[in-house]
Amino acid sequence: SIVVTGATGHLGRHVVEQLLEKVPAERITAVVRDPAKAAGFAARGVRIAVADYNAPETFDGLFAAGDKVLLISGNEFDKDRVRQHRVVIDAAGAAGVALLAYTSAPGTLTAALADDHRATEEALLASGLPYSLLRNGWYHENYTENLGPVLEHGAVVQAAGDGRLSSASRADYAAAAVAVLTGEGHENTTYELGGDEAWNFAEYAAELSRQTGREIAYRPVSVEALQEILTGAGVPGPFAAVLAGVDASIERGELAVSSGDLSRLTGRPTTPLAEAVTTALKG
Ligand code: NDP
Repeated sequence: SIVVTGATGHLGRHVVEQLLEKVPAERITAVVRDPAKAAGFAARGVRIAVADYNAPETFDGLFAAGDKVLLISGNEFDKDRVRQHRVVIDAAGAAGVALLAYTSAPGTLTAALADDHRATEEALLASGLPYSLLRNGWYHENYTENLGPVLEHGAVVQAAGDGRLSSASRADYAAAAVAVLTGEGHENTTYELGGDEAWNFAEYAAELSRQTGREIAYRPVSVEALQEILTGAGVPGPFAAVLAGVDASIERGELAVSSGDLSRLTGRPTTPLAEAVTTALKG
């Protein structure tokens, strides 16, 4: 089987949808916490397994020898994500899966959230399992799905200076994962995944202006100021620090990925940022 954890998340849904275009539904297992969220997949013949990264026993017997598994990193930043991910790695190791792919972060990223990814990568390598590290760059949607305040204030407020990043759509990263899960020869590989074109926030603001017909400017602020703005808007302090830290990484160029691995794996150019803006504005 091809087994996908986090299957009811944003990325996981894209992965399962794209797998359904390539392999019979009964060869796909979606690992979910809440089967109600996976009812649509179940109705189309996808096998559903219920498990939680926080409960190791729920992964007992879930994997079989020869499975190809995609571990999608968790989003509970207040928990020990490395321990969560190790639960999946241990279960996959006990079963003897044929491949364990993991959605990581670019090798250049030093922002705090990269620590969990590096530690998970180390645990995966130490397991001795055939692995594939899908070092996903940033999603377009991190920005385009949060346009409310930008349109309200006519300003893109970020702390990245004129740093450039090469984001891509979640669907692009999902296509890379599907290529690895359904193709051959991806054992013990590391892919640095990002969009074909790097951009900065001034260019992003210009694109927003073009598509909305309104004046939207980039307002660069300091990392400290962004952190205050985010906490003022209700983002919990530790997470605001992480987000502001990401901007510092962007300014240093740590989210600019120039490997070309993403379009090479998917066999097509990555989705332009402008297209993600159009999609978001259509709402
Ligand atoms: P989502 O937040 O949409 O999905 C996270 C998924 O992880 C959900 O399916 C969720 O399950 C699952 N999950 C969380 N905790 C557990 C748990 N304890 N046990 C089992 N499953 C769990 O994120 P995306 O799909 O957009 O992105 C995937 C991952 O990529 C994120 O979780 C995060 O680690 C990382 N990320 C990457 C970004 C980037 O720009 N590259 C940006 C943001 C995050 P459920 O559906 O039940 O909630």
